[in-house]
Order: sequence, then structure tokens, then C-alpha cells
Amino acid sequence: MRASRFTVSVPLPDTGEHFLFNSLTDAQIVVSDDVVQLIGRVDRDEAAHLDPAAREAVSELTALGFIVDSRDAEDRALETFFTDLRDDASHLRVTLLTTLQCNFACDYCIQGDHEAHATPAARMSLEQAAQVGDWMEQRLDALGPPRFTLTFFGGEPLLNLPVVYALAERMWDACRSRGVAMNISIITNGLLLTEAVVDRLLPYGLTGVKITLDGDRATHDRLRPLRGGQGTFDRILANMRVVAPKVRLSIGGNFDVESAASYPELLALLRNEPFADRIAKIAFKPIIRGPNTGRAGAGTVVRSTADGGRVIPLMAVDSRQVALGGTCMTAAGSGAGSGTPCDTCGLADERMSWLRAETRASGFATLDGLHMGPCELHRRHSYTVGPEGSLYPCPGFTGEPGQRIGHVVPALDPAHHAVRDRFEAHAPWRACGDCALVPVCGGGCSVAAHNEQGDLNAPSCHRPGMLVALGEIASAAASVPA
Ligand code: SF4
Ligand code: SF4
Repeated sequence: MRASRFTVSVPLPDTGEHFLFNSLTDAQIVVSDDVVQLIGRVDRDEAAHLDPAAREAVSELTALGFIVDSRDAEDRALETFFTDLRDDASHLRVTLLTTLQCNFACDYCIQGDHEAHATPAARMSLEQAAQVGDWMEQRLDALGPPRFTLTFFGGEPLLNLPVVYALAERMWDACRSRGVAMNISIITNGLLLTEAVVDRLLPYGLTGVKITLDGDRATHDRLRPLRGGQGTFDRILANMRVVAPKVRLSIGGNFDVESAASYPELLALLRNEPFADRIAKIAFKPIIRGPNTGRAGAGTVVRSTADGGRVIPLMAVDSRQVALGGTCMTAAGSGAGSGTPCDTCGLADERMSWLRAETRASGFATLDGLHMGPCELHRRHSYTVGPEGSLYPCPGFTGEPGQRIGHVVPALDPAHHAVRDRFEAHAPWRACGDCALVPVCGGGCSVAAHNEQGDLNAPSCHRPGMLVALGEIASAAASVPA
């Protein structure tokens, strides 16, 4: 028997106790120091000399995954974990970019300030939507999943409502006739989120809307204005007030060195809104500006904040290219949500910890900062569909010809077999050695690795931030009476 290599032990101050977390089984326990010693004895092959009470403890620790049969057995369990995740056929997830057009001119998004934005961005036609519908029905038939989630994303997805409505209605009928449970989510800047839109989509399974607010009113209006420069905060909040009684809302926020300080004011404002209890989750990720953050030839991207903290950018924001192929930077590159592209990887260590604490203190749910992966990229039956029908493994790779894994039109599909095969074998975590966090990380965001390191197969590591988050979880566990 061996100690699991996926256990992380956090000493709890003043008690002599430890918080043990196993990332493969997700077991979390608070134990006395002699239990930690016991695990060490087992790992040193001393199990044969244990008394009955210790043997019983070993049995319980084995059931929780803190002790394993052998290193080989645990390696196999890890392979099985990733294989099961990749092959999971219980849920077909499709993120659909209805358009790359956007009515905002976000300060950090190249789409807003680059002369190329005058060029009409790609927009799905109803004919293309019909092809996407054909393909989604084929996937339902081939896979037979009990669940189907359709997420509308962009650009700004609500700029193409005919496609949203057409596919929502069609797929609802398709799912009903196949006995599949369907839900719809929307990731939007919130400006066009009217009661009429929500009412129209509720009968087809609309269950959640994710809206971006980048700080308090002044900060948000500076970072996320309309193309004419007008502020958007008040209108978005007015829309949220109207739709919140009908649909669950979640809030995503992007922050940079200057704007992070405005979050407490945003949280206080939201807490006082009548819809505060309808907010399912608030999550944040960092943005950064700089001359070396472009996708091509990305250089050093870790920046220092005024107080010495580190801010780690996730994506290009001021290269002379359309960042993320025109995908909205609001949500791409932020991981592991259920049904949304991702809420992961935008970790900025100390600053993320502070934002989590502020969010919780305001009475809102947020990510725990530890269970950040493996993201949708590791799931075979999770697709992103671009406006012209190209398929990508995740939203962050949209628009990159080299990362296309197929097309909804079968005749155009075979050309992408090699890329699909490459993503089938994608496993950046294999380069992570003995890291105990592999099952809750998966090697991090591959879009970030692609942008920041020029190698999407490399891990994009935010281990220090995850360990800070584990400390927060340990403190919370220690404060709960046994
Ligand atoms: S690779 Fe990054 S952007 Fe893509 S789904 Fe994963 S966390 Fe999100
Ligand atoms: S990317 Fe970092 S934290 Fe994630 S599994 Fe690899 S080494 Fe661990």
C-alpha cells in the first residue's frame, strides 16, 4: 500500500490538526497529526505492524482514497479518470457563436478599437443555422445522451436573435422527440437582454444567463462602453432587474490592476438589488494590457501590481490581430463551468483570493478556486460551433484555422481529422509530473498556454493560486464544528 500522490495536506493553525484533500476522489477530511503519521507509516511499508485500531483507520483512509494499493494502480485510476471524462456520453454540450459582431467596444478587446472592426464580422445565416441544426440532431442520434446543453455565445449572441430562436425551437423539438433533457444558457453583455427575449426562450429550456460586469458603474462604463462611447452599466442593471424573476443570472467580471479595487462597490450595489438572491454565481478573471501579449510571438506576460501581486493574463488584448479569433473575451478562457464555456483559468493568485473573499463576504456564491478543471477541452462531446459552421474544441480556439476539428457540413469535415485526433490525445497534464492537483486542474487552460507560451500542449500552471484556494477551503472546513 502507498499514500496517494493526489493528497495535499494543509496544517491547521493552533490545533495540531491537518486538512487532507484528495484531488482524485475529492475526499476532504480534518485529521489529527497521528493520522498523517499513520499514512506515512503505510507509505513506508509498515502496515504489517499496525494495531487493530490503526488498521481500521487505514481501511477508512483507503476507502477515501488517501491510501492506495500501489503507485501503478493509482496511475491507472488517473488514466481511467481522464478517459471517462473524455468519453462521457451523458451530456452533449454545444456552444454556438451566433455572430462575432458586438455592439460594445470593450477597452481590453481588440475588436473594439482595431480598425478591422469596421469590417463586417462573421454572422450565422438561417441557412447555416439549419445546417448546424442537422448536425446537432445527428450528434444526438449518434450519442444518445440523456442531456443536451446549448449555449449561445459570440461576439454578442443576441445580435442574431433569428438564429437563437430558430435553433432553440428546433432543438427543443428534437430533444423532446428523443427523450433528451435540454437546457439553454446565454453568455451576453446584457444590453439586449429583454423580457421579450427571456419569455421567448423560457419554453425551450432557458435556465441561465451569464452577464459581464467589470466593476462599479464608472469602471464598467470605462471598460465596456458602446461603440459610441456611451456607458452601459445602468441599462444592463435595468435589464437584470426585469429578467431576474424569470431566469437565474450569473455574473462574470474581468479585472485588471486598476479596476479590481472597484469590485467591493459593485458587490455592495448588487447586494442591494432586489434580484440579489437570483444571482447564482459571481466569478472573475484577469485582463491585462501590454505590448507583448499578442498571440504571435507572445513574450513575458506576468505583470506586477502596485502592491507587488502578480496578475497573469489569459489572452491577447492588444496585438494587431483579432483576439481569440473574434470570440468574445468576456467568457472564453475562463474554464470548467457546467454548461458555459468556462470559468476556470483566469487566476491571478493573490488578487483572485481577495476577490473570492469579497464576493463571499457579500453573500454571493463564487468559484472555490481549486476545482478549476479539467475543462471542456478534455470532453469529446463538447463542441464550439463558429458562425460559419466550423467546429472547435473550445471557445478560446474559435477562428483559428489550425485548431478546427471539423465542420457541421459532412463534406467539409474530413479535412480536419488530423486536428481532431490531436485534441483527442490532448493531455498537457502529462508534463506535470507528480503534481497532486492534476485531477482538479488537467494542466490548466490550453488557450492560455497557446497565447502565452506559444505551445498549447504545455501546462498553463496556476498552482500557487490553487494552493491558496485550498488553504481557504481548509480554513472553512476547520471552522465547521465536527
Ligand atoms: S482550454 Fe481554456 S478557454 Fe478552452 S475550455 Fe479550457 S479553460 Fe476554457
Ligand atoms: S498545470 Fe500546474 S497545478 Fe495544474 S496539474 Fe500541472 S503542475 Fe499541477
